[in-house]
Amino acid sequence: MSATTKGSQRSLRAPVRLSFVATTCPEGMHIVEPEAQSLPANASFMEQQLAKSPGPVLRFKSDRIEKGMLSYAALDDLVSVRFANVREGDLDGLFRFLRRFGQVHPTVDKVDVVWRLQGHILVLVAGLLGFQGKRSREDPDRAKLPDLVAQLEKFPPLSKLILEEGVPVGWNIECRNLYQFMQMEVLLAHWDGARAHQCHHCLDIFVVGRGSGRSKKAIFCSDKCRQAAFRRRNKSAK
Ligand SMILES: [Zn+2]
Repeated sequence: MSATTKGSQRSLRAPVRLSFVATTCPEGMHIVEPEAQSLPANASFMEQQLAKSPGPVLRFKSDRIEKGMLSYAALDDLVSVRFANVREGDLDGLFRFLRRFGQVHPTVDKVDVVWRLQGHILVLVAGLLGFQGKRSREDPDRAKLPDLVAQLEKFPPLSKLILEEGVPVGWNIECRNLYQFMQMEVLLAHWDGARAHQCHHCLDIFVVGRGSGRSKKAIFCSDKCRQAAFRRRNKSAK
């Protein structure tokens, strides 16, 4: 059987595991004005630039920090798609995301930069999973896609063999931050043949097809939205 036949595709990619240890706070995060901080003498160019541009930053609400392992296991609930679904400027939506998944990047904590990263993930989802829909107001700039993919090459994730009694049984891709985890997640979903649609009711993006538990023709993200759209149609028909 050829290695590219459909049935064997999944088992070909199966030994590759994507993981990231997320840092979260049960109280979530909030926005604070940055405290003046003195940079260490060996601060990187990036750190110096970030320190120069003032602006509110995101901080955990308390010292209660928890660690949790994220992995790429199912297409029906991707962290990247959740992030892409936060509407630009919707701070409550952003805080809900951060409370669950923690900081997007440990050194990039400026609010406007986090929004920029959110826009990047939206472009990756649109460019690689190809959703089409009515999000015209915030239609992502797909011309940015090559640059965003190149980022991964410049700052690749760590990776190592998974050994069991000396036998390699897989390859673990260990992401350095949540942003990178989401980038890699979209890439793996793309290689897994995932496609994305936009819900005709709530306008959220969702993955359809094999491995997602949703039909390739699905136009609603959930039963809740299907029923709500049905009720709305009935109402307007009366
Ligand atoms: Zn929906």
